Amino acid sequence: MNRDKDQVVVVGGGAAGMMAAIAASERGRRVILCEKNEKLGKKLYITGKGRCNVTNACERDKFFENVVSNPKFLYSAYHEFDNAAMMALLENSGCSLKTERGERVFPVSDHASDVTAALERLLRKQGVKVRLGAAVKEILTEGLSEEKEVKSRTAEEKSRGAADRRRITGVILEDGERIPASGVVLATGGLSYPGTGSTGDGYRMAESLGHTVKACSPALVPIEIKDSWCAALQGLSLKNVELTMHCGKKRVWQGFGELLFTHFGISGPLALTAGSYYERCKDKEYAVLTLDLKPALTAQQLDRRILREFEANRNKSLKNVIGSLYPAKLTPVMISLSGIEPEKKIHEITKQERETLVRLTKGLTMQASGLRGFSEAVITRGGVNVKEVDPSTMESKRVKGLYFAGEILDLDALTGGFNLQIAWSTGHLAGSHILADIE
Ligand SMILES: Cc1cc2nc3c(=O)[nH]c(=O)nc-3n(C[C@H](O)[C@H](O)[C@H](O)COP(=O)(O)OP(=O)(O)OC[C@H]3O[C@@H](n4cnc5c(N)ncnc54)[C@H](O)[C@@H]3O)c2cc1C
Repeated sequence: MNRDKDQVVVVGGGAAGMMAAIAASERGRRVILCEKNEKLGKKLYITGKGRCNVTNACERDKFFENVVSNPKFLYSAYHEFDNAAMMALLENSGCSLKTERGERVFPVSDHASDVTAALERLLRKQGVKVRLGAAVKEILTEGLSEEKEVKSRTAEEKSRGAADRRRITGVILEDGERIPASGVVLATGGLSYPGTGSTGDGYRMAESLGHTVKACSPALVPIEIKDSWCAALQGLSLKNVELTMHCGKKRVWQGFGELLFTHFGISGPLALTAGSYYERCKDKEYAVLTLDLKPALTAQQLDRRILREFEANRNKSLKNVIGSLYPAKLTPVMISLSGIEPEKKIHEITKQERETLVRLTKGLTMQASGLRGFSEAVITRGGVNVKEVDPSTMESKRVKGLYFAGEILDLDALTGGFNLQIAWSTGHLAGSHILADIE
């Protein structure tokens, strides 16, 4: 076999690229993994707050419910390499896993670095040549010869008259070095957290090869809030609260979990998911978030609880009693929003005022004013148009031997380990199929 004929270059040593390299080498390809950073998986280290929520142990249907953009495109990839396959791969390579609330899967050690270490062991075992500090600048192609083109075109492509198809011949690095290859996997990620290396290089390379890139926007990103009281709560983290998003009169989303207040608004898992729905809200001016601070209690139960508290402390002032309901930072904000004098004695508080407290506790409203940018986004929405990629192999329909994997594609999901699973599944499928026709 010609030495370059089975040579594959994987561009990007993130989750998708490492997986593609492992799968391609398992199928006997000679794989060179080019990563522009000085280490592999720089973004993986910061996932799940450094703990790496590797995947989600949910049923198949639930997985697809959590994929926001183009879930159908993922059917084959997920079928061939699903959450169970990923968990088995990590466990078998020395990274023990545990499943937490919401079926989120993490390494037992709580260290994201253990996930990368396990993948690096597999890369070494498979003999993948890892090139660090190797930024790919350009992908090289040539026109398919008439004979090869006819052989490689599918019936569908023939009928569409895809006459201008090209094929991969290699890549050029930033320093001018040329690496010959018959296959390339583009796994350069998106635009979020650019400090980790995701700076959109892959989009430019894909476009230069005739692909279209769907407009990119930050997703799973914190929300800016108009209400000034939010800033006073900066640093406050609330667990077991319920957040609801309305666009005008329509309730578009509701979730339960953790919320973090910041100097600009809200972050944390609940806010990141709500942000995805905010983006799709047509009339953003009317996007309102409502926070239920005591979702386990009905309004009546909460009222009875406050009443009990009040009866036991009739001669104390409101500010010294109501604190038992909220975290310290929240108490003055709640009193101020209720409009009740903080020094007012409990026995002077009217039924109406008590009802106001109940209403606020069960429905603290916030007006969203926008989303934060790519530098704070967990994921990029948009990317290489999936209509131009074969979902059963991840191969480009434009360039023979060009494959895509991971966040570079127009795919994104909610939080919970689903985005990494997209990277694992698409990376595995691309690596498994690359240069399959040389066998
Ligand atoms: C803060 C944060 C927390 C997250 N937590 C989770 C989580 O817990 N669970 C979850 O499922 N998802 C999480 N995600 C999302 C997840 O990290 C991404 O879905 C995933 O990393 C995408 O993998 P990828 O390989 O496609 O891209 P990336 O991980 O971005 O990897 C792309 C790689 O390509 C390299 N590269 C780029 N251009 C070139 C070039 N020209 N030449 C060579 N190399 C290049 C980059 O340096 C980078 O290493 C999180 C994201 C962020 C930002």
